[in-house]
Amino acid sequence: MERYFSWTIGCQMNKADSERLESALTQLGLTPTESPEEADLLVVNSCVVRQNAEDKVVGMLGTLKPLKRDRPDRVVALMGCMVGPGREQDALRARFPYVDVFMQPQDYAPLLDLLGERLGVDVEGCLGPLVPPNPEVTAFVPIIQGCDKFCSFCIIPYRRGRQVSKPVEEVVREVSLLAQRGVREVTLLGQTVDAYGYDLPDKPDLALLLEAVHEVDGIGRIRFLTSHPNDMTDRIIQAVADLPKVCENFNLPFQAGDDVVLENMRRGYTNAQYRDLVHKVRSMVPGVAMVTDLIVGFPGETEAQFQQTYDLVNDLHFDKVHTAMYSPRPNTISLRQLTDDVPQAEKHRRVSAIDQLQAGIQADINKAYVGNVYEVLVDGHRRGQWTARTRTDKLVYIDNPQPLLGHTIDAAIHEATSWSLRGKTAVPVAKIPS
Ligand code: SF4
Repeated sequence: MERYFSWTIGCQMNKADSERLESALTQLGLTPTESPEEADLLVVNSCVVRQNAEDKVVGMLGTLKPLKRDRPDRVVALMGCMVGPGREQDALRARFPYVDVFMQPQDYAPLLDLLGERLGVDVEGCLGPLVPPNPEVTAFVPIIQGCDKFCSFCIIPYRRGRQVSKPVEEVVREVSLLAQRGVREVTLLGQTVDAYGYDLPDKPDLALLLEAVHEVDGIGRIRFLTSHPNDMTDRIIQAVADLPKVCENFNLPFQAGDDVVLENMRRGYTNAQYRDLVHKVRSMVPGVAMVTDLIVGFPGETEAQFQQTYDLVNDLHFDKVHTAMYSPRPNTISLRQLTDDVPQAEKHRRVSAIDQLQAGIQADINKAYVGNVYEVLVDGHRRGQWTARTRTDKLVYIDNPQPLLGHTIDAAIHEATSWSLRGKTAVPVAKIPS
């Protein structure tokens, strides 16, 4: 057992989970490979939040099937949101008999125990903290697992379970370790990140956690996502305004613009309440970037109800909008109680209408960056150029031969599209202390 191949689909939480499993595999002496044919262990980290993601997972498992047949000693592991509890796993075993191990999100034990047996080691005794050994400049840090909201369309609570927050000290320890390993920006993750802490004994909130993480040396930027409008408090908004390392960037899904659709989704707020919240965030945090998620074609959504969604996007001028088509998911309330009656072609039309509207809005927002200088953190290199992010999470391409990775620099923006900016800089003006 020497090499592993890992494939991940889905949200940032899945990416973070895979990084943590890979940390454990590295500690057990396995090395990664890009080629499944070369691997002794094949791991698929799955997402089933939409049907098309699930289809891709099934496709990947089908690709791995002959590899297992050719070498039965290979281990195939399926983790993530496709793996439900108890009896649901029996159905998966029957459907994918060549998969050796099924793991619910963040439950790495079944695979690690099996590897321990194969390698003849006591996994308990030889694993340190599951933090990526060679992280990039930016890193995701899960701070809450699960969700208590049970929106009618969402499978997450059935697969990731009820909300469980990590204690403040544990998050700070993890962020400190990441900083020692070269990370300069952390994004604190949760399905409802702004609900952080209410399940913990002394009920710390996200504002308090942001203050604690802010004290970690070496970390220059802090972000958090995804928030639920009903959990967003004045204390959290004020913390973003007050703490210099916390970036002015809120990811606040509204999902639908019509109040009846919102009620059927069980979101717990109205169009007017959502608008008030966005206005409040903008008034308390100058220059803030707002990002949202929405779903079109929810059961029963009429053209007039869709128009409410369209108007809300048009009125609120988000920096980014993630648009999804409704697809019924197992176990969910909307699957059990409502009919998926908006035709697929109409769902596509609604997505296109929103995407077209938003492209114009983003072009206008990004155009306003041209001619100004912004602090950016250089986090990668793509097609001969540096990639960097503003505090508002705008992607900036920079042409510069200097080794800028991990530096915070001032970038003069000279070009903008709907999706990215282009900037120039002469020399690094500051390096975040390590
Ligand atoms: S808040 Fe709603 S949409 Fe978000 S994870 Fe929880 S149940 Fe799903």
